[in-house]
Amino acid sequence: MTNIILLGPPGAGKGTQARRLVEERGLVQLSTGDMLREAKDSGTEMGKVVADVMARGDLVTDEIVIGLIEEKLRMVKAKGFIFDGFPRTLAQADALGALLRRSGNQLDAVIEMQVDDNALVERISGRFTCGNCGEVYHDKTKPTARAGVCDVCGSGDLRRRADDNAESLKQRLMEYYKKTSPLIGYYYATGDLFSVDGLRDIDEVAQSIGNVLDQAKRH
Ligand code: ADP
Ligand code: ADP
Ligand code: ZN
Repeated sequence: MTNIILLGPPGAGKGTQARRLVEERGLVQLSTGDMLREAKDSGTEMGKVVADVMARGDLVTDEIVIGLIEEKLRMVKAKGFIFDGFPRTLAQADALGALLRRSGNQLDAVIEMQVDDNALVERISGRFTCGNCGEVYHDKTKPTARAGVCDVCGSGDLRRRADDNAESLKQRLMEYYKKTSPLIGYYYATGDLFSVDGLRDIDEVAQSIGNVLDQAKRH
């Protein structure tokens, strides 16, 4: 098993790189953000509870997201997982460690994607995704080849997230610095932390992550 965490602020490029790893290494992406948006769109009780919290840019409770991850780890068979947007708190990090240990698995690498805050505003404000296949695009850095049509699946259902606005981003960044950034120290201490320069272009970042994974495997 290869289990990887992609760690970084909103807009750092976690989802983009997770999809590359799915394609290139056959790992399964577990994005708590995607799971929560699905719950919201399908109107479940939990979805109703999290909708306002997400719109504000606050974190959803640990209990809810740990429950979502626990269920996926139980139900999905894979040769490895990419945790995208999870864990976001120390309690979530502890819970993930326990869940992996319980099934006889471990973490192979935590990849911190370093991007400065000014770049995040640009990244978030130009982001749109395919509602059908989940491909992530950007108005400037990764436009579709044909306007309004997904390159991957041909769908015309291209969407912008309601929380990708300046005010919500400000709150999401605050949450990141207060609650998630301590995980950098936590995983440094466990010896699992690797950092890559997330400001480079998408292919270069993918290359750096590939190098980290090859290095991590030799440990
Ligand atoms: P981004 O791609 O901008 O980093 P995500 O799609 O990962 O954002 O998350 C969107 C929202 O979902 C977050 O602002 C938060 O409200 C909620 N969320 C996602 N993952 C978690 C988590 N692990 N813990 C708490 N809240 C989460
Ligand atoms: P996260 O999942 O960390 O919130 P995303 O993968 O959704 O981040 O990326 C945020 C936006 O930035 C998207 O519009 C994406 O197309 C774009 N993007 C991602 N990586 C890069 C990169 N290395 N250079 C330029 N733009 C990027
Ligand atoms: Zn698509």
